[in-house]
Amino acid sequence: MSDRNRDRSGENPDRPPACLAPLPALIVDWYRENRRRLPWRETVSPYRTLISEIMLQQTRVEAVKPYFERFLATFPDIVSLSDADDDLLNKAWEGLGYYSRARNLKKCAREIVDRFGGVIPQSYSDLLSLSGIGPYTAGAIAAFAYGQPVAAVDGNVLRVTARITADSGDVLTPTVKGRLTDLVSSLVPKDAPGDFGQGLIELGALVCLPNRPPKCDVCPVRALCRGYAEGIAERLPVRGKKTERKLDRRTVLVIRSGTRTLLHKRPARGLLAGLWEFPNFSGGFSEKEALDAVRAYGLEPLRVVSLDPSRHLFTHIEWQMTGYLVLVGEPDRPLPDGFVMPETDDLLSRYAIPSAFSAYTRRLRDPLPR
Ligand code: SF4
Repeated sequence: MSDRNRDRSGENPDRPPACLAPLPALIVDWYRENRRRLPWRETVSPYRTLISEIMLQQTRVEAVKPYFERFLATFPDIVSLSDADDDLLNKAWEGLGYYSRARNLKKCAREIVDRFGGVIPQSYSDLLSLSGIGPYTAGAIAAFAYGQPVAAVDGNVLRVTARITADSGDVLTPTVKGRLTDLVSSLVPKDAPGDFGQGLIELGALVCLPNRPPKCDVCPVRALCRGYAEGIAERLPVRGKKTERKLDRRTVLVIRSGTRTLLHKRPARGLLAGLWEFPNFSGGFSEKEALDAVRAYGLEPLRVVSLDPSRHLFTHIEWQMTGYLVLVGEPDRPLPDGFVMPETDDLLSRYAIPSAFSAYTRRLRDPLPR
């Protein structure tokens, strides 16, 4: 998003259209009655809001719930997060995916320690200057945790407001995003910015649903909604075409010596940076090619078994994986740099392995083939 649009989530003195004047009170009242009890809402602090909002980027509420308190137990404050051991951080993030968020979170914590004395800043512009914090997250921390009258506009809010205003522009374009953000900014009530912001999001999650018919019959703002009145709500918001994911065919090798399994640490930059993985290669390997790759590590294959294919969707890439389980003898020389061969319990408890490999990780406790 351009700087021009980034600034749009800040305070906006423009007056809202008169027909929408009752909207803030309707949203706030509805939210206070109907909000879900979520761990990060029971006790609110800037740190808890920061962590939950970063976790909720690209991950569903239900999936975040079990990780939130566990992460906070491991890293209870900004200082502990700023000093986090990378492997421990990745392990605490395991299961949430999109690990670059965890790396940026640590970088953000360091910046807060260095530039703001360890205190999460209150102002929207200071928040926006931190690594990994975009306009939505800056607005969410400012409004939900600090009670600042600023907007927090995510995909839910864009959908709800596009429907309420019957805006048929493409919400993926900066122009339409900016227009709807300006509208929300003009509506934020000074006495309840957090409940208003969270109320719009909650309405989008529970009533004005994505990819399904909105539940207009139970909606608190139906009387104001132009999309409903014009019978076009279900067709909104309009979204332009996204670029197709690139297909990447890969071969994954689960190389085991008894109860130990070979892992490789990925490079510090790029996709899944710094995480542990089963050795894997571009292309679909034959059994012979798989065994040649194992021998290249200085290991002697004893047995090979084909594993079920699996696939994983990243934002821009789709991995289509075939796999082999290769049983090898006890290594008789040091493993190459960047490789380890931990016991299964150790591997599962200490090593962060991306969910892209979950089809292979979850079979590690299966009995070995004879
Ligand atoms: Fe969404 Fe329907 Fe409510 Fe309009 S009336 S905001 S379309 S749920």
